Amino acid sequence: MPFLLQEIKMRICAVLVTSPMGKTYDYLEPEGMGLETGDYVLVPLGPRAVQGVVWGFPDASEVPASKMKSVIQKYDVPPMDETTRSFVDWVAQYNMAQRGAVLKMAVSVPQALEPPQPLTGYILGSKVIDLNEMQKKVVEVLSDGMARRLSELSKQAEVGTSVIKTLVKHGVVEAVDLFAKVPCANPDPDFAHKDLTADQTKAAAQIVEAVSKAAFHPFLLDGVTGSGKTEVYFEAIAECLRTGKQVLILMPEIALSNSFITRFSSRFGVAPALWHSSMTPAQRRVTWRGVAMGASKVIVGARSALFLPYADLGLIVVDEEHDAAYKQEEGIIYHARDMAVVRAHIQKIPVVLTSATPSLETLQNVWDGRYTHLQLPDRYGGADKPEIKILDLRVDKPERQHFVSPVLRDEMELTLAKHEQVLLFLNRRGFAPLTLCRTCGHRIECPKCTAWLVEHKRTHHLHCHHCGYSMKEPEKCPSCGDTDSLVACGPGVERIADEVKEYFPDARIMVMASDVLDTHQKLTSALADIREGRVDVIIGTQVIAKGHHFPQITCVGIIDADLGLSGGDLRATEHSFQILHQVAGRAGREQLKGHVYLQTYNAEQRVMQMLAADDRDGFLAVEAEERRRAHMPPFARLAALVISGSNETVTRDVALTIGRAAPHAQGVRILGPAQAQMYRIRGKYRQRILVQADKKLDIQKMIAEWLGHVKIPSSVRVSVDIDPQSFV
Ligand code: ADP
Ligand code: ZN
Repeated sequence: MPFLLQEIKMRICAVLVTSPMGKTYDYLEPEGMGLETGDYVLVPLGPRAVQGVVWGFPDASEVPASKMKSVIQKYDVPPMDETTRSFVDWVAQYNMAQRGAVLKMAVSVPQALEPPQPLTGYILGSKVIDLNEMQKKVVEVLSDGMARRLSELSKQAEVGTSVIKTLVKHGVVEAVDLFAKVPCANPDPDFAHKDLTADQTKAAAQIVEAVSKAAFHPFLLDGVTGSGKTEVYFEAIAECLRTGKQVLILMPEIALSNSFITRFSSRFGVAPALWHSSMTPAQRRVTWRGVAMGASKVIVGARSALFLPYADLGLIVVDEEHDAAYKQEEGIIYHARDMAVVRAHIQKIPVVLTSATPSLETLQNVWDGRYTHLQLPDRYGGADKPEIKILDLRVDKPERQHFVSPVLRDEMELTLAKHEQVLLFLNRRGFAPLTLCRTCGHRIECPKCTAWLVEHKRTHHLHCHHCGYSMKEPEKCPSCGDTDSLVACGPGVERIADEVKEYFPDARIMVMASDVLDTHQKLTSALADIREGRVDVIIGTQVIAKGHHFPQITCVGIIDADLGLSGGDLRATEHSFQILHQVAGRAGREQLKGHVYLQTYNAEQRVMQMLAADDRDGFLAVEAEERRRAHMPPFARLAALVISGSNETVTRDVALTIGRAAPHAQGVRILGPAQAQMYRIRGKYRQRILVQADKKLDIQKMIAEWLGHVKIPSSVRVSVDIDPQSFV
């Protein structure tokens, strides 16, 4: 009955729903709903009702009016602004993801659209009293400024609810309405300003100017650890706050510690709004609403915070821009650092990438004149850079079945005698990466992955670090049945801890690895133990490499500097250099001189030599030249197709079919299909195809056309990874 439709003048709206679908669906707008583009709505989709956002008002629809359904409800939330909508479209197009799935990242808390019912939560109050151990734990948990429900707080602080109630009585903890409290509503740009050094002032001034101009302007804030990069971007944040706009600070998830939040609070008077994976849905809801309403001014978050629907964003900071954690490898595959630059471009605002070891991509953008380079060459307070020494393990041999060389051991002894701290770095969790049978040579592998099981002494189990599979340590070889024949091969952090205990029985040792410090809570208290000198030797994986400040560590030993170099990854040497440089940067801040020892079997290797010579830019220049010659990023484009399925033959056949359908175009090279290095993960077989293309080619369009010609059975999954970081 189309005439009826005209008579009552109903409008058609195109709605993008938060489901993995690429196109919008048309709905009728019920009379009087008053919809605008960007409004959040509930619409029927098949048998369900789903949330979505009004993407536009088309003049006509392919759906006949008689079949068209109506919008069920409009939510009382400010509409998603145009920049966020364009960003969703852009991210979907670039990463070859469904637009609806990208929208789902922006509307990730469905309950946030509904007006919340009052709910009691607890925050720190204003009173201070002497606290007992249990009470301290409560205060520590709450020190990130986030409100928590009673049960949550009691669980996280590991105390009974009566402890909390007592604190409430004393005014140390306060009850509030969880949803009434907008996080980071009134940060004060002038709360506690620090006087900047000349270099810092110069860098800050340029960002501040860009903030006040409100135009797209990418910066690389490049300075050694401890040079005051954070202080500099705090000034830019202050300026942005003066203009009334919002700020987003992206951080790698594990760098998001309470010490940063405390530091932020002492600069701006309130804690920032947070966004990370260990938040509860209720907490996310509070942050989401604060962001969408424009009431929360500064948001500190892990990569997905980039997709929140900011009401009025004025500045983005990407801390530790080189960090691999910015690449999301599952679901929608995207690089948050690159997408942050895109968002800033769409939003016409400045974006600041910070690092002590910038990625080659970013530095190339500086060399090409696209990003402004801000440099802070010196550590704040004039602390010397640490001295880096190469220990050649072929000469300075550790004892049999040991991993600390005699020279490093002596240096540790000297350091401990001075009551300073030692940090040993080994990027490997657990006790030993491989268990081998001496009798038959059998290696214990994961039944579901192409991976050895890693022995964890703490749990007496062997674990798969890819799928989470674990088994009790076997008493006899699962293959030949021999007893007492299984040996641990190679070291993990737990094994190094045993060795250190053997050398220094009185030393207080701490192991820092993601499986040991699996909550923000444990990480925070571990960091406090180190800072307050309750630990002598820290043995850690990459969790220790991130921006923490440990003034008493003066000796850093890198157990296996060669570890990151194997594996044939495009960025293996670059990443290896970055992580070793960062770990080295933990040594000797403030008054104490630091010493770093690199244990290696490849003393001549470029990474070692350039690290010892402290020649980062020289290293990257050589690296860039090699990439240019190999026609690799950042001088060419790459995309990976990962074909996976439970049936080995079917998966291989699909990969071969895709391979045969590959385009033959100039400036394009197709490598594969080939079995992935991790051939099986979680029981799925994996084949890979690598697409290498000239920079000017539209690689997405080419892949879309190519895959459009191939029929892919539903049992096989083909995922496209644009600008891949992982090659396994
Ligand atoms: P980065 O982010 O480059 O690692 P930070 O900003 O964390 O460096 O600075 C290292 C330390 O030096 C911090 O404790 C910081 O408070 C201090 N600091 C840096 N600049 C100043 C300054 N201008 N005034 C006072 N303290 C400073
Ligand atoms: Zn596994």
